[in-house]
Amino acid sequence: MSDSADYTFVCPECAESMLVNDSMRDALLENGCVICSAALTTDAFSTT
Ligand SMILES: [Zn+2]
Repeated sequence: MSDSADYTFVCPECAESMLVNDSMRDALLENGCVICSAALTTDAFSTT
């Protein structure tokens, strides 16, 4: 197992999508979308 992407993130506001790992997911949930700063919930992430 590598430390690569574990989740697919899709922003509900700007539709930005990216693959993220667990720590990146936590950061996004805490800080919001990196593109549009929308507040995010776990609904924005799906496991791959
Ligand atoms: Zn966004």
